[in-house]
Amino acid sequence: MPSPTHPALDAFVAQITDRLVFAQVIIRRTQKGFELRHVDDPERAAETLRELRQGDLRALAQFTAGGAFRPLKSAPNLQSGWVAPVPGDAELELALNQLYPGAVADWFASQSPQPPVTHYREFTGRQTGMYRLTTMLSDPQAAQVTRACCHKGFCLKRRLWTVTGAAPDAVEEKSLVPCLEPCALLLELARKAIRIEQEEKMKLELAPAEAATLAAALRIAVSNPDPAMGEADFDSPANPRRLQLLLEKLAALPIKATVGTEHQRSE
Ligand code: SF4
Repeated sequence: MPSPTHPALDAFVAQITDRLVFAQVIIRRTQKGFELRHVDDPERAAETLRELRQGDLRALAQFTAGGAFRPLKSAPNLQSGWVAPVPGDAELELALNQLYPGAVADWFASQSPQPPVTHYREFTGRQTGMYRLTTMLSDPQAAQVTRACCHKGFCLKRRLWTVTGAAPDAVEEKSLVPCLEPCALLLELARKAIRIEQEEKMKLELAPAEAATLAAALRIAVSNPDPAMGEADFDSPANPRRLQLLLEKLAALPIKATVGTEHQRSE
């Protein structure tokens, strides 16, 4: 009996020649199907890696190597040091869904001429209750929140949704895994950002060199997050996305010193 057709999976498998990098996973064709491993382990002998079964992958994706919970499965902190043999196409989709939930279906949707993308204004316009506040961010503020929250140091999904001032991400900068609408973390950071905007402001005058020093300190702090801090703990002033948001704001100031927003996150 022919197997049921599965256009998303069929199209996804068709693009795998010898190998395909999907976020932090290398998918390789083998004689028995596929092999998955971390992008940091491309040439390591399989015997030196921990062999995982499909059922182990969900648990692997739950925590970082340091044991911190991963609320965002597309964060660039998937543990390395493992290999997972996968016997066939259906099992490949199941395995990838453990690591990147819904990613194959979203990838397929993103290939259509009109991907089902929900942009910031449409998405926040539907919010009720405490998230209704997120509509109050101006376009420049919403763009800063977006660039901070979705920075490649925090999330490998290629953002297709936009807000004025924040263009979609390029595949080369992120990955093949698309992001079709703002996630819960983005919404929470946006809510925090409007709360911050509503606080009474204080005046702080800085020379350009001092602004550059502040930006350098922020980049160092973003790159060395407190491992005990929850990724979504936006009440903490030291939350890396809040630090990145401040970097975005500094970069938007009309000062001559370079305050760039790039950082290298250490895990
Ligand atoms: S909204 Fe941003 S942080 Fe959230 S999943 Fe999409 S790209 Fe990642």
